[in-house]
Amino acid sequence: MNERERLETLINFNILEKLPESVLNPFVKTATILTQSQIGFLFLCEDERYLIKTKIGLNIYDMQNDFEFCFKIAHQNHYFEVSDAYKHPDFHNHRMVLGQPNFRFLGAYPLITNSGNNIGCLCVLDSKPKQLNFDQIESLKNLAEEIIVQLELRKQNKNLQSELNQLIHDKVNQTEIDLAYYKFALDQSAEVAITDRDGYIKFVNDKFCKTSKYEKAELLGQPYKILNSGYHSHLYFKELWQTIEKGKVWNGEIKNKDKNGRFYWVDCQIIPFPDKKGSPHQYVAIQQDITAKKSTLERLKLETALISILSENAAIEPTIKKLCEQISLFLRWDVGLYWQLDDKKERLKNPIIVPFTYKNIDSFMETCRKFEFKKGEGLIGYVWVNKKPKWIDKIDGNSVVIRENIIEDSGFKSHLSFPIIFNNEVNGVMEFFTSNINQSDENMIEMFETLGLQIGSYMERRVAEEELIKAKKEAEESVKSKDQFLTNMSHEIRTPMNAILGFTELLEKTKLNHEQEEFAGSVKMAAQNLLSIINDILDFSKIESGTMYFEEVSTDITTLINNIKDLLKFSAQNKNLDFYCEIDSKIPKNLICDPIRLNQILINLVGNAIKFTEVGKVVLSADLYKSDFNNCSIKFSVRDTGIGIPIEKQNQIFERFQQVDNEINRKYEGTGLGLSISKNLIELMGGKLEIESVPGQGSEFSFELSFKIGRSENSSEDENIEKIEFEKTKQKSILLVEDNLLNQKLAANVLQNQGFDVEVAENGKVGLEKLKQLEYDLVLMDIQMPELDGYQTTKIIRNELKMDIPIIAMTAHSIVGEKEKCLNAGMNDFISKPFDQKDLNKKINALIDHQKKTSNNGYASYKPSNSMINLTYLYELSNGNKSFEKEMISLFLHQVPKEFINLQQAYDEGKFQNLFEMAHKMKSSMEIFDRKDLAEHLNRIMTIASKNNKDVEIDQSLNAIELSLNEFYPVLNEILEKNY
Ligand code: ADP
Repeated sequence: MNERERLETLINFNILEKLPESVLNPFVKTATILTQSQIGFLFLCEDERYLIKTKIGLNIYDMQNDFEFCFKIAHQNHYFEVSDAYKHPDFHNHRMVLGQPNFRFLGAYPLITNSGNNIGCLCVLDSKPKQLNFDQIESLKNLAEEIIVQLELRKQNKNLQSELNQLIHDKVNQTEIDLAYYKFALDQSAEVAITDRDGYIKFVNDKFCKTSKYEKAELLGQPYKILNSGYHSHLYFKELWQTIEKGKVWNGEIKNKDKNGRFYWVDCQIIPFPDKKGSPHQYVAIQQDITAKKSTLERLKLETALISILSENAAIEPTIKKLCEQISLFLRWDVGLYWQLDDKKERLKNPIIVPFTYKNIDSFMETCRKFEFKKGEGLIGYVWVNKKPKWIDKIDGNSVVIRENIIEDSGFKSHLSFPIIFNNEVNGVMEFFTSNINQSDENMIEMFETLGLQIGSYMERRVAEEELIKAKKEAEESVKSKDQFLTNMSHEIRTPMNAILGFTELLEKTKLNHEQEEFAGSVKMAAQNLLSIINDILDFSKIESGTMYFEEVSTDITTLINNIKDLLKFSAQNKNLDFYCEIDSKIPKNLICDPIRLNQILINLVGNAIKFTEVGKVVLSADLYKSDFNNCSIKFSVRDTGIGIPIEKQNQIFERFQQVDNEINRKYEGTGLGLSISKNLIELMGGKLEIESVPGQGSEFSFELSFKIGRSENSSEDENIEKIEFEKTKQKSILLVEDNLLNQKLAANVLQNQGFDVEVAENGKVGLEKLKQLEYDLVLMDIQMPELDGYQTTKIIRNELKMDIPIIAMTAHSIVGEKEKCLNAGMNDFISKPFDQKDLNKKINALIDHQKKTSNNGYASYKPSNSMINLTYLYELSNGNKSFEKEMISLFLHQVPKEFINLQQAYDEGKFQNLFEMAHKMKSSMEIFDRKDLAEHLNRIMTIASKNNKDVEIDQSLNAIELSLNEFYPVLNEILEKNY
């Protein structure tokens, strides 16, 4: 029997053994009945063991060993019979034949399983000898087989059962293994704690203990809040408990405090476990330590914030303050200090102190300000020498600290300082204090070390820049003082020149003999020459200081060139030169440009051409180059057949005071400034002055300029205005405020000649008196006067007398910015002395006319639906320039909504410095549009913002501004549509 079969048999045997008597009894009983035998039993065997399972009519206690013979029967494959034991050689001596039960007959059928294994036999015995008939044998066989069927069934059941058991067993086993692994995995990756419903700890895993630095025993039975860091608000935990008490999972980040007081962050998931009734009876917290991730993120955030502060590249002190604030905010520490290196580089002292929290540290700050540190002295000196950051968790007892008393009195516990290094030298030390004990953090220390270098290099750059700015400022100052000198010079020269020219003109109008007329003419020419030199010098100063501004006036180029021709034709005629002007007839009549400057350039070029040509001709031409509806380009050229310029000198002549040849120049006169000015003016207008010249043959100077095309095509507008205005202004009265007697007379004469009534006031004070008594149409105001100067007088007229009478400033200062200054003071226009009579007349008429115009139509007459609008100031500023007004209103509509968003954002983000700046910026826009109410709100915001406080008042003001602006925008749009 092989192993498998043996096992199987064993199973059978066991099964048979366990088969209850109640099941087998009927088979044995039926066998005895069918064979009419007194005894029946079932023999079951396995190897050498056997078992008498069910016996009918047999007491086997004393005959346990007498059934050996059955082995032989069991291992046969057919029916076995002993009809008379006495006669059978194997049985006649058998104890069971000679003794109890004294059988003579034995009939038996083997029990053979389906797989062919003999496992026993069904036996019947009788005390009488006999033979079974065929039917009886068949019945015995059937019964034996039926027993096998029962056995097989049992076996199958047994197999099924054991399979099932095995299955369950395997499953349970696997689950146990899986669970063990899950637990292992969870223990490896997460900290797990279980608390009861009141938050008392029932279980913690090893990892939890490791992170919290507590022993298991120290945690079990403790409330979970043993780990509370105090960082989160009461509300935060309230919300947590509300969630889990409802049976919901809570997810979030918590800052905990370990046994040693170190803070750590966990990403936590709390899962409520419900009891049978469904209400949570315990909570499982599964959490990951995210301190490293969190601090990396925070560090990155801090680094970004600090770098952005540094990249603003503001001045050093505000930058240092911002840096200190940002670091204090990040660390949640109380105060930041920046110790500065003194000039001799011997001491760190004079700290910039930036308190961050509202802790009262006045005496701390006061004491610190008195401290100075030499190298190696105290904490600051220590950092200076070591060039490394220093973090002290607990200050008390630290021997390096020499400010111990004041630090302790202020309640500070932890300290951090790091050096600001550039060029490997410490240039300052940043220091921070907190009243909490804060464990040092290697990563942070490393970061502050790097930061110290970054701040150092910013400072290095900044110091260099500041030096540059200083140098630039000094240079500007020197330009300014040169400017000032030129202004004064011009004033000194122009005032008498004004008189000379004016009086010569008046003299010419009197009756003179021929000789006198000639003398007067010479005086006038000399004065004009002198004036032109002064003008050149002044122009030059404007170009040098970058303050040359251009007017934008609709100009007819043809007229302009014809005027030049009229002006210079006599000079050409005097030298017997032909002088032609070739003007392209396609050039539009109304080009926007500064006619005075264009005129100046062309006169210089043509003047030179005539000056440096002895025979032949001079041609001034203007050709239309490109043109579309809005713009056009014109090429101007001045050609002559003069002496020409050697190629090597052609670049030099554009430099100031440069002339080709001093010899020649003594012959031709000139300053050597004209070309330089012309070249610069052309470049400022967007063109380039080119030269082509061959010595002995002639020269050509040319340039191309682009112009916008104006709307009106009326070329004779200027002349018309002049004529009409002359009529109109006949009865107008002008108050002339001027202290210089000569100038008084001259101006009065000029004005009277033009038909104005003139009243003279010798200074501002007298002028004001006269204005109070009589009505004038216009004031002509000198600027430099004793008592009250022109600016002051104008301010009083505008602000105190509240008069909007047109005022024209008269000044010898034709210098940069003067016009703006006059306009800012409230004057309407500006004319420089000595003035051109036509020019003055034009300006007077324009103003008187504008007054009339604005009082009849235009915005003043426009009554908007809303009373919030008053654009008088804007109109005053515009001085009648509609396109300027339109631009200003459009700009407001375009700009202010954006500015408001920025304002709100700065407030939301708590950037008070930005908030302050934005409010300040917006305020001036509001003032131009006379929204004093909004300017007031912005003022309030600025005041509160400067205290770095979030405040409901700011909220209220922001709301009010938003509401008002939303009403204001449509009104402005309406004005734009109706007026422009
Ligand atoms: P100025 O004429 O007062 O000397 P400019 O700056 O106008 O000063 O000219 C500089 C120099 O360039 C002149 O002195 C002269 O030598 C040379 N120059 C200018 N225009 C001509 C010209 N058309 N032909 C020859 N030389 C010229």
